[in-house]
Amino acid sequence: MTRVALIAHDDEKPEMIDLVESYEETLAAFDLVGTGTTGQRIRDETSLQIERKESGPYGGDLQIGSEVADGEIDAVVFLRDPQTAQPHEPDISALLRICDVNDVPLATTRSAAELVLDGLDDD
Ligand code: PGA
Repeated sequence: MTRVALIAHDDEKPEMIDLVESYEETLAAFDLVGTGTTGQRIRDETSLQIERKESGPYGGDLQIGSEVADGEIDAVVFLRDPQTAQPHEPDISALLRICDVNDVPLATTRSAAELVLDGLDDD
């Protein structure tokens, strides 16, 4: 089953919820995993089921990176806040890097996420 990771920084969480609602039918057919707070909000605000890792600052990005390294993730949607420095920036860089290493599509904006999800939907 297609497995997709969903992560959003605090400023981008409303955008993530809006995206997920727009793609609810597509995402319902996928296996979803998310960082702690993003995952909780998706659980609370949509009907989707999503596995929750730790919150980003507590290692959630690294846990998802580990799954990418193991070849378990087909795509990552990571809506990042480009204006605010994050305390766990090294972990975020590690996740971006391991996606590049493994050629796993990583969308960091809404429009890129839509292209990636549309592409997965056609598979
Ligand atoms: P969160 O983590 O979903 O637990 O807020 C996201 C992040 O900041 O990486």
